[in-house]
Amino acid sequence: MPLPLEQLEPLARCPVCNKKHRRGLRMLPVAEEEKRTMLHLTCEHCGGKTLVAISATPFGMVSLGVLTDLDQSEAKQALSAEPISADQVIAAHQFFKQYQGGVEELIG
Ligand SMILES: [Zn+2]
Repeated sequence: MPLPLEQLEPLARCPVCNKKHRRGLRMLPVAEEEKRTMLHLTCEHCGGKTLVAISATPFGMVSLGVLTDLDQSEAKQALSAEPISADQVIAAHQFFKQYQGGVEELIG
């Protein structure tokens, strides 16, 4: 069964300007797994950029859209980055356990 893309709300309508997408919609798959695809959309009306995750479930296609300021190549790069390892998680945990400073210094 072909993917009924037009039926998925985030693909049918721009969440920024609320206009219906036409054929001019720029859409690029930026990450693909067996039953999940992440698409990057650029609205042809307002230029608004959205990342839409589409998953195949036993109940049909499910989609979730989020606004982004990443362009297509940045999104592709960010989503294809190496997954975080268990060692990195432990290292971060230990860092925060010992950290004595305030939030401002941490993010400044
Ligand atoms: Zn738009």
